[in-house]
Amino acid sequence: MPTAHQHGPQCGHKKIPHGNHTDYLNDEGLLDCANGQHPVAISENNPDKCKPLASSKHVHDDGCGHAKVMHGNHLDYLVDGRLEHPHGDHIDDHGQLEVEKDSQEQTGGDPRKGPQPLSI
Ligand SMILES: [Zn+2]
Ligand SMILES: [Zn+2]
Ligand SMILES: [Zn+2]
Ligand SMILES: [Zn+2]
Repeated sequence: MPTAHQHGPQCGHKKIPHGNHTDYLNDEGLLDCANGQHPVAISENNPDKCKPLASSKHVHDDGCGHAKVMHGNHLDYLVDGRLEHPHGDHIDDHGQLEVEKDSQEQTGGDPRKGPQPLSI
């Protein structure tokens, strides 16, 4: 059962703009919306396609530190504002997810902002 959690500026959940309001990405990867929880919609921006990323050495799992995002009927991981979908031996690029910036930028200690080595 999801814990009753009051989302707020300090709660640490990512904020996803949804129309004229803001949804919060909860621990299950669902968007907590005024109309109930729902996954990220499959759209032109976030297609449900096999589009392998060039570098997919990282293996996503429960403890990898990336936020889980339900996308349509599958699970993606949020990496640098993009949806990455583990697919067999590669990772698919499922497009950019619009995430609201925190008003006060944190420096350091944020896995999203870490330098991504582009070693092939
Ligand atoms: Zn919403
Ligand atoms: Zn694929
Ligand atoms: Zn990961
Ligand atoms: Zn996806």
